[in-house]
Amino acid sequence: MGRRSTIALLGLALSAVLVVGCGADSGNGAAVTSLAPPRASTTVVPSVPGAPPRVTILATGGTIAGKANAEPGVGYKAGQASVQDLISAVPGLDKIATLQAESIANIGSQDMNEEIWLTLARRINQLFADNATDGVVITHGTDTIEETSFFLDNVVATDKPVVLVGAVRPANALSADGPANLRAAVSIAAAPAARGRGAMVVLNDTIHSAREVTKTHTSSMQTFASPNTGPAGYVSGDSIRFVTTPQSHTRPRFPVPDGSSLPRVDIVYSHAGMRPDQVDDAVRHGAKGIVLAGVGDGNTAKAVLDALAKANDDRVVVRSTRVGSGEVVRNAEVNDDELGFATSADLNPAKARVLLQLLLTVGITDPVRVQQEMNAR
Ligand code: GLU
Repeated sequence: MGRRSTIALLGLALSAVLVVGCGADSGNGAAVTSLAPPRASTTVVPSVPGAPPRVTILATGGTIAGKANAEPGVGYKAGQASVQDLISAVPGLDKIATLQAESIANIGSQDMNEEIWLTLARRINQLFADNATDGVVITHGTDTIEETSFFLDNVVATDKPVVLVGAVRPANALSADGPANLRAAVSIAAAPAARGRGAMVVLNDTIHSAREVTKTHTSSMQTFASPNTGPAGYVSGDSIRFVTTPQSHTRPRFPVPDGSSLPRVDIVYSHAGMRPDQVDDAVRHGAKGIVLAGVGDGNTAKAVLDALAKANDDRVVVRSTRVGSGEVVRNAEVNDDELGFATSADLNPAKARVLLQLLLTVGITDPVRVQQEMNAR
C-alpha cells in the first residue's frame, strides 16, 4: 500500500474515533475527556536504509486543532479538527517523513490529565520498543504543554526525538500558526540531530527543552520561553539549529506507573496576607505531597510555614516559587534542614509537582533524596 493511501486509511479510522470525542463539548470550561480506545498495535512502517524517516503524530487536541466560532461571544473551541485535517493543512508534510497518525484525545489542554499522560507514555514507549517510528510528534494545547512534555521527558526511555507542538491561533484563524509549527515539529522529529535531547516543545520557530520551557504570555505568538537557560534551538525553513548540548540521554527515566492516576500532589499559591487554609485543605483531601508556589525565593507567611512543617510529618513538602525564573536556594530564608523540606531547584511549581508525583510512585519520600532528584532532573 502506498504512503498516501496508508495515511488516508488511517485518517478515515481516526475520523471515526474523533467523532466520538467531538460529540461532547470539549471547549473551554467543559471538563470532557475523550480517550480513543486503547490500541494494541499500529501499522508498522519498517525501517529501510536510505528511506525517509518515519514520524508518528499523536494528537491530543488544543488550539492547534481548534476552530474559531461564528457565534458572537464565543472565541473558539480547542480540539475540533482531526489529526488528518492538521496534516492536510501542511503541503508537502509527507515529503519530510513517512507519517503515521493516531488520536489519543481531542481536548483543550486545561483538561489534560494523568490518564492521558499515562496513555501517551505507554504508546510512545511501545512505538519505540517496536522500532515502529523514528520520532514522535504530539499535538497539544499550549496551556499545559510544559507539564505534559516534562512528564514524558521523565518516563519515555529513548534517544529518539519526542516533540510537542501547539498553536496560539485556531486552525481556521487568519494567519494560523499551527501548520508552520507542525511542519517544524515533524522536521525536528525526523532529524538525527534532534536525538538525545529528551522531549522538546516547538512553537514560533523556537525549540525548547521540556525541562526548561514555560508559557509566559496569555495570547502572544512569542509566548514560550526557557527563562533559566534560553531556547535549545531554532527552526528556519528547512534549517534546524541547536544551540545547546544534548544532555538528557544519560538521565535514568522513571518506569511508567501502573494504573490511570498518580499520587495526589497539591500546589499552594503564596500571596500577601496568606493564611494556612490551602495547606489544611491539601492535607484534608489526602495529598501525599505539597508544592509551595512561594513568593520570592520560595517563601511564605510564618503561619503557612508552620502548617507546612506540620504537614511534612507524613507527606513531602517542596518549596518552589511563583516568580517564574531563578533557583530556590536551600536554607537561605527558610531553614529547610530543620523543617525537612526539599526545594524545587529551578523547576517551576507545575513541573516540581509532576516530578514529585513520579518520585512518590517509586517510593522516594526522604527529603534528601527528593532534593537530589529535583537538582538532577
Ligand atoms: N486552553 C487551550 C489549550 O490549552 C487553548 C490554548 C492553546 O492551545 O493555545 O488547549
